[in-house]
Amino acid sequence: MSKAIFITGGASGIGLAAARRFAREGWTVGIGDIDEIGMRRVAEELGAFTVPLDVRDRAQWAEALRAFAVHAGKIDVLLNNAGIARYGMFEEVTPDESDLQVDINVKGVINGAYAALDYLKASKGRLVNVASVAGIVGSPGLAVYSATKHAVRGLSEALDAEFTRHGIDVSCVMPFFVETPILDAGSKGSNRTIRDAIGQSPVYTVAEAADVVWQATHGRDREYIVGKAGRQANFARRFMPNRL
Ligand code: NAD
Repeated sequence: MSKAIFITGGASGIGLAAARRFAREGWTVGIGDIDEIGMRRVAEELGAFTVPLDVRDRAQWAEALRAFAVHAGKIDVLLNNAGIARYGMFEEVTPDESDLQVDINVKGVINGAYAALDYLKASKGRLVNVASVAGIVGSPGLAVYSATKHAVRGLSEALDAEFTRHGIDVSCVMPFFVETPILDAGSKGSNRTIRDAIGQSPVYTVAEAADVVWQATHGRDREYIVGKAGRQANFARRFMPNRL
């Protein structure tokens, strides 16, 4: 039986690139996303299993993973990748936009961990959460986003320690800038986007990000950073303030 991975946010960007990578390696790929049109394209391209999923909704999580486990026979990996960003100074990002980031980026990941736990116990599998370099360095213009990604990083560290007793590994992927539609995310009160803040910083490809996701699914480390620049904390600290 081939290995099975369920990817949230697999209709676009890093999740889509990971879906392509795992499909190429012979894995059974399941995708849950709110973008049903995007998922239809992925289903046609990869023959992947797709299911509508809003990661904020626990009932949808239960149904999505049940259906994928029936399809694949098991679940070896949950890639908690779906996430959003709203760029702008703290007061330019509305409280509703902040809530949305917390609901999707943090609660969505926690919901996924709860929903997948029994399947991962059975397969002695892996939970891979996508945080961000903004989970290491508080990034101006992305204050609440940074808070959500620090939360995902902390959750991953704690769950890695807890889930060892179930035979489940937990790892966290922290991308630096990767060329995806998220770079064009703004907010209601700002006419700037993440792309405007990039300046001379390197932007990595989704294929490079998918390689790191692959490593995070197979290696022994707890944290995996996409992009050399992300490893240079001083550089990461400097890049955004210069652009404000
Ligand atoms: P993306 O916008 O290309 O993809 C995000 C996907 O998540 C989309 O398919 C979207 O439909 C889906 N999604 C959004 N809300 C959802 C919800 N409520 N339920 C289910 N699916 C939902 O962005 P991306 O860059 O590929 O982002 C993937 C992950 O990588 C995110 O967690 C993001 O925070 C993180 N990340 C990205 C970068 C970057 O530079 N691209 C950097 C650091 C971290």
